Amino acid sequence: MSEDRAAKLAEIAAEVRVCTACRLHQGTKNAVPGYGDVNAEILFIGEGPGFNEDEQGLPFVGRSGKYLDYLLNLIDLKREQVFITNVVKHRPPENRDPMPDEILACKHFLDRQIALIQPLVIATLGRFSMESYFPGGKITKIHGQPKYADDRAYFPMFHPAYVLRNDTMRQPMEEDVKRLPELIAEVKRRRVGGKPTSSTPPEPEAPPTPSKPQDPPQQLKLF
Ligand code: URA
Repeated sequence: MSEDRAAKLAEIAAEVRVCTACRLHQGTKNAVPGYGDVNAEILFIGEGPGFNEDEQGLPFVGRSGKYLDYLLNLIDLKREQVFITNVVKHRPPENRDPMPDEILACKHFLDRQIALIQPLVIATLGRFSMESYFPGGKITKIHGQPKYADDRAYFPMFHPAYVLRNDTMRQPMEEDVKRLPELIAEVKRRRVGGKPTSSTPPEPEAPPTPSKPQDPPQQLKLF
């Protein structure tokens, strides 16, 4: 049941808000567990909350977040229809990089969010979230190249803040985003009938039987 999963997601968020497992909670205003739909097909993983996110307790609400909204709009999505979270759920001081032990201490929250949402696509934003799924990968080389595993697609993307600082990255970033619907379709195709190979004709489109619950949007979105 979608309501049960939403409630469990809220429980995780409540745990995040009182978490003191690493040093990062010190001096923060708000934890930032994540935001979005428990039935999301795409889950975005950023790095860690910044100033605005710490103020509001919500992910990607500053300049990077505005750009992420713009990118989602390119594929007719709103942030309420996806799930957005970070590898660490408290703001690192002065926006420094999260440290390996902090990422590790926070990992179980992310793993549990993923297990509940079961997204078709996990899109990593920047190198810290990429590293978990593409160890040793170099973002400039592997961005936009999906890896199909665990019945889903992992998709490495640039971090929006990096793109905002490097204008020439806008076009590749936007091209990568525009591939997301195709990845969703491919995962659905693989889940239904196995992947067609180049030597076999493609399977007819899968019937519109949802592979995930398609309940109406839930109210419980503020995680
Ligand atoms: N950058 C991130 O990585 N995450 C946020 O939530 C905001 C900015």
